[in-house]
Amino acid sequence: MLNLKNIRSEFPILSREVNGKPLVYLDNAATSQTPLPVLNRIMQYYTETNANVHRGIHTLSQIATQEMEDARKKAQKFINAKHDYEVIFTKGTTEGLNLIAYAVGNSGLLKSGDEIIVSQLEHHSNIVPWQLLCERTGAKLKVIPMDENGVLQLDFLEENLSEKTRLVSFNQVSNALGIINPAEEIVRKVRQNSNALIVVDGAQSAPHFQIDVQKLGCDFFVFSGHKMYGMMGTGILYGREEILEKLAPFHGGGEMIATCSFEKTTFAGLPFKFEAGTPNVGGNIGLGAAIDWVEGIGRAEIHEHETALMQYCQSELLKLGGLKIYGEKANRIGVVSFTLENAGIASDAGMILDKMGIAVRTGHHCTQPIMDYFKIAGTIRASFAVYNTFEEVDILVEGIRKAQRMLG
Ligand code: PMP
Repeated sequence: MLNLKNIRSEFPILSREVNGKPLVYLDNAATSQTPLPVLNRIMQYYTETNANVHRGIHTLSQIATQEMEDARKKAQKFINAKHDYEVIFTKGTTEGLNLIAYAVGNSGLLKSGDEIIVSQLEHHSNIVPWQLLCERTGAKLKVIPMDENGVLQLDFLEENLSEKTRLVSFNQVSNALGIINPAEEIVRKVRQNSNALIVVDGAQSAPHFQIDVQKLGCDFFVFSGHKMYGMMGTGILYGREEILEKLAPFHGGGEMIATCSFEKTTFAGLPFKFEAGTPNVGGNIGLGAAIDWVEGIGRAEIHEHETALMQYCQSELLKLGGLKIYGEKANRIGVVSFTLENAGIASDAGMILDKMGIAVRTGHHCTQPIMDYFKIAGTIRASFAVYNTFEEVDILVEGIRKAQRMLG
């Protein structure tokens, strides 16, 4: 049983007021709040050991390097990667996906007529980098369709995978609807029917349940620190050693070279080949602390609590009536995404909720293709973290009742 009082006491922001009302923070799929142990760890880094890493003989530089490499090992364990050098620090999921797209393109792995497959449930950051790659190479983008429950139609894979398919990228959990995709089944089908590289966007799964990249069998897995109680501007790209070794770099610069001359530059080994320039040392150490914090609570416990909040929220909203929940029947994490019938656009309700201190996200959630499918401009999305309570769900539902009265 989680001790929510203790957990909440570690998040000072949760006791502030917004618009004169206690904050009810339900926008965790966009970014989660950061607990004191993580903030203190970053403070400790900046007050005690701040120095540039990997290139200093002096003591602080060595300590900072050690601390950042410790954080890398924590991330390795967090996703069960085989080696710590398969874990690359990034600015977040978006940078991770772009890194893969550029590295794959720069390595000549794609030619005109080849195919990349994504799903209809993707965030723009798992669409646009592949579209740009297609433009650069003449490859074609194909899309796994979904049904009206938001469930991906996996027959599409058998029908469309071929030797032309060079890469398949999909999210383990949809940010807009919270739907958990059958990642292992997708990986199995891709492996059975093609030699494609497999990329999993874990931005919305890593914070909420156990990840095992070896069991999953993907080639790449990316996620963001700021959605899992860490800092903005941090993230992880996991890549299988065998693939990373073959790929050309993304960014060029300091840290990523073995030797550099005007005639020829050779590149450093993994992971440094993909980490050009000074990294976000404090942020990366903070991500290590966030991992410790999450593990301290337990991902199974987090998942159970958030799922219970989601189910309660869904059933209370359905009792209100006059609304439609997207992906209502699908297997989901702690996300409820819905529209109100005959009650303006999503942001109208969002503004009313904001006046009540309730933070939800409204709009297309960077997933316009999903909105196009449902022929809507956007949804109201409540997304839960481990610190949310059933009382907060009640406040949200009451807020929605008021919004329906005011807008209906
Ligand atoms: N993919 C998914 C599924 C996401 O939810 C997000 C963030 N909303 C991203 C990618 C992009 O993450 P970031 O903005 O942290 O780079």
